[in-house]
Amino acid sequence: MATGKINVSVENIFPLIKKFLYSDHEIFLRELVSNATDATLKLKHLTSIGEAKVEYGNPMIEVKIDKEAKKLHILDQGLGMTAEEVEKYINQVAFSGAEEFLEKYKDSAKDSGIIGHFGLGFYSAFMVAEKVEIITKSHKNEPAAHWICDGSPEFTLETHSKTERGTEIILHIAEDSVEFLEETKIRELLTKYNKFMPVPIKFGTKKEALPKPEDAGEDYKTEYIDVDNIINNPNPAWTKQPNDLSEEDYKNFYRELYPMQFDEPLFNIHLNVDYPFNLTGILYFPKLDSNLQIQKDKIQLYQNQVFVTDNVEGIVPEFLMMLKGVVDSPDIPLNVSRSYLQADGNVKKISNYITRKVSDKLKSLFNENREDFEKKWNDIKIVLEYGMLSEPKFYEKAGDFVLYPTTDDKYYTLTELKEDLKDNQTDKNGKLVVLYASNKETQHSYIAEANAKGYKVLVLDSPIVSHLIQKLEADNENITFVRVDADHIDKLIQKEDEAISKLSDEEKEKLKLAIEAVIPKENYTVQMEALDSNASPFIITQPEFMRRMKEMSATGGGGMFGMGNLPDMYNLVVNTNSEFATSILNSNEDAQKELVKQALDIAKLSQGLLKGEELTAFVKRSFDTLK
Ligand code: ADP
Ligand code: MG
Repeated sequence: MATGKINVSVENIFPLIKKFLYSDHEIFLRELVSNATDATLKLKHLTSIGEAKVEYGNPMIEVKIDKEAKKLHILDQGLGMTAEEVEKYINQVAFSGAEEFLEKYKDSAKDSGIIGHFGLGFYSAFMVAEKVEIITKSHKNEPAAHWICDGSPEFTLETHSKTERGTEIILHIAEDSVEFLEETKIRELLTKYNKFMPVPIKFGTKKEALPKPEDAGEDYKTEYIDVDNIINNPNPAWTKQPNDLSEEDYKNFYRELYPMQFDEPLFNIHLNVDYPFNLTGILYFPKLDSNLQIQKDKIQLYQNQVFVTDNVEGIVPEFLMMLKGVVDSPDIPLNVSRSYLQADGNVKKISNYITRKVSDKLKSLFNENREDFEKKWNDIKIVLEYGMLSEPKFYEKAGDFVLYPTTDDKYYTLTELKEDLKDNQTDKNGKLVVLYASNKETQHSYIAEANAKGYKVLVLDSPIVSHLIQKLEADNENITFVRVDADHIDKLIQKEDEAISKLSDEEKEKLKLAIEAVIPKENYTVQMEALDSNASPFIITQPEFMRRMKEMSATGGGGMFGMGNLPDMYNLVVNTNSEFATSILNSNEDAQKELVKQALDIAKLSQGLLKGEELTAFVKRSFDTLK
């Protein structure tokens, strides 16, 4: 029997390992199963080129719990190691690797995130084990080796009677880590990290029903046999060629990825590049509505089919974080901090590639089946609008497929919109005025007035719309967006012909005073306008600029600081040409009060502002007039 001392400068590395990766203890299993997978794939390669003269067969990996003896076993049928190789790869390479890793990153432990993923390899076993054994038989014709190490730099290495090719790692689980002897815990970890690894992984057995024999009688009882319980799918969809996959295959993979998700995805994007970096994956556009629900099914990051994390910040562009799916790339550095990751050139290229693929896909969906694309618009608009605001590269391409729906369910691109509106909605200063509503129901009366003039009204109802139109106005000369209730329609799109006032200036002043005596000054500014005599007598509007700034500051950034806290200010537009205006002037003071109050309430009602006690009083008062 040989004993030895592992040559390291850190006298006892194990307590350090333990402490350093405290929160990430569970990754030991991923590391050991990854090593087993590597060993199997290496053997596959060696047999395929004729270097290893053994039968490759159908190797699998097995994970076994021996609860009584407090042991966890990981077995593979890979290429194995000779005693000499154990010396080299475990004592020297793995150990120095672990040491180097700790040296490099022990100060940046605070900068968690991806850090802690990968790099520690075999020695992560000591995060949960007080003693580790390796029993390994190389594919080369040499006796098996048995290595034991109890967590100090001393180890023993002797020969072993094992005859089958491959490696068995035995972890003697430490007292503080007994959770890793629980079947449910191990199953959870295998499903989390190894669900799509390329070599079959067996964990226990399961019952499978035998087919019913043809001559089975009435009282036949189904018979069950024990079969290997394979926990992974070694050939997940993203590793295949898009040509070999049907729509159904993509949907099935979505279900496999998120078993608790019952909505079907809207469409998918298959990622596949090998130059200048390697990346595969499938992204899905899920159904999203405008209240962004808290998302627990996120995009998952893999490296060579090993799950790494579902925090893809910095790798996937921010606006696409709401998507779902898988990204697999060996080229993403993982044992580095987030800030380093964002500065990494390769990672930036990956993020740009994803943006480009997504915009190409959107463009082709739009071109190939516009009708279907329009149907999906409401579910995808949030992502796209956010992309236009946050990703200049996406904004450049978005003009080709971003849509602007109208209240009568027509969908325009910006170019089509400009062309269509220019004749009727250009004002006397040559500005193209785009009207929009944020809610078809509550702004109905304003929309109706605009439609009566032949104007089109867009429905723009996502929470970030104020930011978006601010940007569109800045980038498109001579175009201005106004919400349909921002002023009376004749004021929103001013044409040459000003209406002639029926009232004299003196009468107007009298009318204004009478109205101001009744309405609350702190909320309303009275604005006297000579409008079409058929237009409503009182109209409540909210000036575009103020409202937009308030919205922008409420949704973060862009708006004017502190605007979000201002009370809502409205304009009360009084149509001095309406018959009602004349009636007020011709009434006595008491009657004036009644009339103004009732008219204000009606105007509030049509803007959705009449609520609670005021609404109750209004309803009662209105019924009383019917008596
Ligand atoms: P890495 O996997 O990054 O090389 P590890 O610390 O995980 O680092 O493993 C160190 C080395 O030990 C591996 O490169 C491999 O040569 C050897 N090794 C580990 N586990 C096995 C195994 N199950 N079968 C064969 N060799 C192994
Ligand atoms: Mg490894």
